[in-house]
Amino acid sequence: MKTVIVTGAANGIGLAIAKAYVNDGAFVYMVDINEKRLNEEAGKLEQTEAITADVSNYEQVKNLFAHVKDKSGTIDILINNAGISKFKSIWEVTVEDWEGILHTNLSSVFYCSREAALLMDQGGAIVNLCSTRAHMSEPNTEGYAATKGGIFALTHSLAVTLSEKEITVNAISPGWIHTGNYEELRKIDHDQHLSNRVGKPEDIARACLFLTDESNNFINGENLVIDGGMTRKMIYEH
Ligand code: NAD
Repeated sequence: MKTVIVTGAANGIGLAIAKAYVNDGAFVYMVDINEKRLNEEAGKLEQTEAITADVSNYEQVKNLFAHVKDKSGTIDILINNAGISKFKSIWEVTVEDWEGILHTNLSSVFYCSREAALLMDQGGAIVNLCSTRAHMSEPNTEGYAATKGGIFALTHSLAVTLSEKEITVNAISPGWIHTGNYEELRKIDHDQHLSNRVGKPEDIARACLFLTDESNNFINGENLVIDGGMTRKMIYEH
């Protein structure tokens, strides 16, 4: 049975990823800072353990992996999904805001990947949740865009370094993935995508299974864009 760690697993994309691995027969450590929601969601699933931790905090990450080592010994797969998308006017962003998003979205990926790699004895796979915002932007998204650009670069750097341990490291860049009520979306929301629909968390979960399947280990250091074609649209004003 594969052992998987999913961060930010109490909601949205992370929850869908945790469910997909459970359905695939894996044991999943579901990690999140939101204890109440995490326990509610993990309680509905077999083959999981809920671990409350703030992945932006190095001590908490070390404790989390020490617990996993005690219980499972080794792990096979890490999905670095936890993240926050706070957008704020560039003129109002505080140093606290800046450092908060940097550590939550980017430092966490480094902390968790290094600890996970130490527990991957038989090779393994890491997937980092990046974003199409690593490559293009709306106004007032500096912090988020910078962290996702950092994840893009960290992904290929980790892939090169961890090759000696037979660990593949890839990123997924989702576009618009609706984590709320899908029915509330408007026709215009769907129609602006080449795929004629807004994305769902399961679209990302299936890609995680694909990228972490050993038979796909020739895909390494890559960034898979899953955005219904949104970033392939050329936008001229006519
Ligand atoms: P979400 O807000 O629905 O879920 C994120 C989860 O991460 C929450 O349960 C939250 O409690 C947890 N979390 C936040 N900070 C944490 C911390 N410090 N420690 C542990 N857990 C923490 O978000 P989502 O939309 O499902 O996004 C998941 C990932 O996908 C994020 O990295 C996000 O940047 C990325 N992404 C999402 C979209 C999208 O459209 N939804 C698009 C591009 C990228």
